[in-house]
Amino acid sequence: MSGKTEARERLLQYLSVNDTANEGYTPDQLIDDAIHEAILNQPALRTCFFPGCLRQFDVISCMAGDPPPRPEWDGRGWATLGAGTIISGGGHVCPDHKSLVTQHLPKRLQLPNDRWSTECACGWTAQPQRYYPLLRGLWEEHLLTENGTLPPAAERTDR
Ligand SMILES: [Zn+2]
Ligand SMILES: [Zn+2]
Repeated sequence: MSGKTEARERLLQYLSVNDTANEGYTPDQLIDDAIHEAILNQPALRTCFFPGCLRQFDVISCMAGDPPPRPEWDGRGWATLGAGTIISGGGHVCPDHKSLVTQHLPKRLQLPNDRWSTECACGWTAQPQRYYPLLRGLWEEHLLTENGTLPPAAERTDR
């Protein structure tokens, strides 16, 4: 937000110069402080990485132990996936999908000849890949197959 807005000017008309002067401020300062504070306190939302899931939580109120700005942004019950998995840079998973993802935690495997694979907690492994980000897509396909969103993989008939 920058410059003067209509709402700001309207608010200014309601603030009395005398009242605010008693507190050592001008009406402009108080309004600008309020806008600044509102911007600083924006939520920092993290989205569940499960394909198609739109749930989010606010990492700021969650870390501070404060109630979230909206009830649906509650971070309790979420899990974080980090180092050692194939989720680059870590990821967050919502309570709806935590148990499925925990049962299928994808461990990163470095193979000879610059190839990568992943070993799932259930025993499934991905076809080795040279391009690392492909593994995440393959693992997501595996997850969606496991929860019944996708049909079981067909037998390979292309060779
Ligand atoms: Zn989710
Ligand atoms: Zn699995």
